[in-house]
Amino acid sequence: MAYKYFPDYDKALKEKTLSLLTERGVSIEDIAELVLFLQKKYHPDLTLDECVYNVNRVLDKREIQNAILTGIQLDLLAEQGKLLSPLQEMIACDEGLYGIDEVLALAIVNVYGSIGFTNYGYVDKMKPGILQKLNDHSQGDVHTFLDDIVGAIAAAAASRLAHTRAHKGAQDAEDTKDAEDTPPSSDASPSLTGPKPSIAEIGKERR
Ligand code: MG
Repeated sequence: MAYKYFPDYDKALKEKTLSLLTERGVSIEDIAELVLFLQKKYHPDLTLDECVYNVNRVLDKREIQNAILTGIQLDLLAEQGKLLSPLQEMIACDEGLYGIDEVLALAIVNVYGSIGFTNYGYVDKMKPGILQKLNDHSQGDVHTFLDDIVGAIAAAAASRLAHTRAHKGAQDAEDTKDAEDTPPSSDASPSLTGPKPSIAEIGKERR
């Protein structure tokens, strides 16, 4: 069946995804902190707000919402003891050889290419911030899927941010070059509507 776009349904899906993350103890700011951890070294002027913005854009994507909904559902069912054995025990105990939690997280990471992939590996190893909390099994909560999902969202947002900034840097360099190449105003043709804006100025207006 062909996919149909229903704005209300898509909005509801994102809201449900966000509310599930909140219910499981993860805020957008928590994920943004991970993005800051991953990217601050490369962008010293990076702010938490810019990280929040990129996390939100990642969470807008349907396939990422689907991965979050699926992973959290499995965590919840394991917490309630409702899965079939031996899957129940494997997920409830976060068994090291299970590995499907990492595979599901790759569905998120893969959307944003190789930078996302390397950032995911790094954040998974270091387990900063919220990831450390999610990996604490002392309270009986099951976050077998959620810890990988959160790391993957952060890695995807870090990749998005890196690509956006690289694109903006290239655009700025292009604008500077255009401005330098623009002939002095005395060489320009007279105009009835005043001086022509430079290509650089037009570029700025478009951004
Ligand atoms: Mg896990």
